[in-house]
Amino acid sequence: MVRDSDERNDESQLSGRDTFFPGVAEEEWNDWRWQYHNRITSLQQLASFVPVQEECLPALQQVIRNFRIGITPYYLSLFDPSNPHDPIARQSLPAIEELLHQNTGEDDPLREEGSPVPGLTHRYPDRVLLVITDTCAMYCRHCTRKRIMTEGAVRRIELDQMIGYIAAHPEIRDVIISGGDPLTLPTPRLEEVLARVRAIPHVEIIRIGSRVPCVLPQRIDAELCAMLEKYHPLWINVQFNHPRECTDEARSACNMLLRAGIPLNNQSVLLRGVNDDIETMRALVHGLLRMRVRPYYLFQCDPVRGSEHFRTTIAQGISLLGQLRGHTSGLSVPTYVIDLPGGGGKVPVGPMFMMHYDERAGRATLRNFQGRVFEYLDPERDPPSVADPGRIAGCDRQQPRDNG
Ligand code: SF4
Repeated sequence: MVRDSDERNDESQLSGRDTFFPGVAEEEWNDWRWQYHNRITSLQQLASFVPVQEECLPALQQVIRNFRIGITPYYLSLFDPSNPHDPIARQSLPAIEELLHQNTGEDDPLREEGSPVPGLTHRYPDRVLLVITDTCAMYCRHCTRKRIMTEGAVRRIELDQMIGYIAAHPEIRDVIISGGDPLTLPTPRLEEVLARVRAIPHVEIIRIGSRVPCVLPQRIDAELCAMLEKYHPLWINVQFNHPRECTDEARSACNMLLRAGIPLNNQSVLLRGVNDDIETMRALVHGLLRMRVRPYYLFQCDPVRGSEHFRTTIAQGISLLGQLRGHTSGLSVPTYVIDLPGGGGKVPVGPMFMMHYDERAGRATLRNFQGRVFEYLDPERDPPSVADPGRIAGCDRQQPRDNG
């Protein structure tokens, strides 16, 4: 059972920060540069905060060679040290399970690599994805792009080529800038990317994908917001996966972005042991709405090598959606999607409310959220019109509609 998230946040932040970082001055704590430079990036550092069994060290070294470790002090302060299955720790601590099932899953299940322009994926007709950095504030253990954050991975960011490609394809109206996390770039570098994309006349909207408001909310400052708002229409997709991530700091970061006119949509990942029960999911979507962040997508966890322990069945995802739809406001209900392996793109899945539809008869049978069954009729195929007033008894002209 998840307790009220605000109540729990206050407790866990106080205890987590006081437990792990006693004596850190307020000014340092609120400075994103301090947070970034004091990230936990090695097992040695980690062992000074949480118990790491010595006999597990060699295996864990292999885990972080496969996929880096990086945890901000802020995110570590959200840990509940008394819970061995803490959902916050589960998303950020390297685990032996990442070495199991090494033959299951793929390094690049969505086939993002292989484009003629490194770092650019053009899957859908009118939009492209740009991966412009391999750095994140935190390395989420369930990440789909682990492959670019492997020790020794060399990633060339060919910005000139990316810009040239978009400029040469007038059908591209939507550019999604991702990574890694674009908001970890120095502001002038990020501005260079945004300015060059915005200068292409046929690009209508720019979207940034970032976990920074969740894992390093101090980064969202006045300077960054002032820069971002020059490049509207600009949207940001964030990733909150658990209600305990909806803290006062996160709310304040989201507020600043919203005040800069940037709509915020959340893209959660359905993660075993993190948010795969209805109490947690309901608390998450309600917490997001209180921060004025729209629950947009709930992603089925991708079959990435080393992430098998996070995956749930599709049936679990559908069941969760079935317990949200109709039981809480529609604004709270994300679209549950599977990003098809092999690069097939995103497909929405969910509970079937339409039980039967006879198109020829114009008749549908639907069930509602309570399981009650209803019939719905299509409009007549040949409805009477004003051109044929004789068919409307007692009426020789169209009456204005009363909209109440
Ligand atoms: S912030 Fe995004 S790209 Fe970075 S590790 Fe987390 S999920 Fe992956």
